[in-house]
Amino acid sequence: MQQPQVTIVGSSNVDITALMNRLPSPGETVLADSYQLTSGGKGANQALAAALAGARTEFIGAVGRDLNAQIALEQLDAAGVVLERVARVEANTGVAIIQVDAAAENCIAVVSGANAGVDAKAVRDAGALHGILVLQGEIPASGIAAAIDAAEERVVLNLAPVIELQRQYLLAANPLVANEHEAALILAQLDGAQHPIDEPEETIAAKLLAHGIASVVITLGANGCLVAEGDQVQQLPAVKVAAVDTTGAGDAFTGALAARLAAGDGLEQAAEFAGKFAAMSVQGHGAQASYPRSLDTI
Ligand code: ADP
Repeated sequence: MQQPQVTIVGSSNVDITALMNRLPSPGETVLADSYQLTSGGKGANQALAAALAGARTEFIGAVGRDLNAQIALEQLDAAGVVLERVARVEANTGVAIIQVDAAAENCIAVVSGANAGVDAKAVRDAGALHGILVLQGEIPASGIAAAIDAAEERVVLNLAPVIELQRQYLLAANPLVANEHEAALILAQLDGAQHPIDEPEETIAAKLLAHGIASVVITLGANGCLVAEGDQVQQLPAVKVAAVDTTGAGDAFTGALAARLAAGDGLEQAAEFAGKFAAMSVQGHGAQASYPRSLDTI
């Protein structure tokens, strides 16, 4: 049988994380204890997860011609993600400059850099998008729209962060993957109404389906996820683990979900696997570094 195929069009970053006792106030300098330089970006995180979950995975995005380009892509390269169509452009590789204090409070500045150039033209120039297509909200809306127009198979849309997208593109998601906050914002885009933060996730999921989205997965952190399809909304519990760092858990979930859908699983089965994969990731520090390199224990 052919290996399941996933194509991810999205962002890749270098995360520069400084660890310090307390965050500086405006105008202030504080001495940090240490820093880490790691690869990130939601697109790249999801590509790594899809590859580690067993799919032949291609990543389509853009990096600069700077030293960070190599760091941004090295984990993907090591996991066998196809990187031939990652554009090298005259901009900086995207960076997230992160400050974290002793109480794990953070302060983050994201410089999109090359990711801002993954627009409609760049996506069209990249050519055919094979297999299950996975998209996030860290590239321009025009790039997301062009990718959906070119999709060959179902589209997994993880619109995080939530950006404005034309209705027809929101409705193309199958599934839409979002956490509870994002799901409420996406619903607000579709119906123009504000949704109270305490509106039950089941109601939000049902309303998203009623607008015409074929399927929806709402992730609920340690409470697992909701899988909604047809007229069914079902909650899948999370695997009980001792979480140390949930950074990138949603990306682990989305990438693994896409890999299993590409392998032929139904949505519920794929979400169950994705929950186990993401539960492994929360037991390690960081995003990409915490993704399981072996599926033996899943
Ligand atoms: P996001 O980071 O995008 O907000 P979530 O926090 O909802 O995403 O996490 C995504 C998925 O990761 C969850 O649906 C769940 O399967 C898994 N997960 C997250 N936190 C935990 C946890 N503490 N224990 C077990 N699984 C978790």
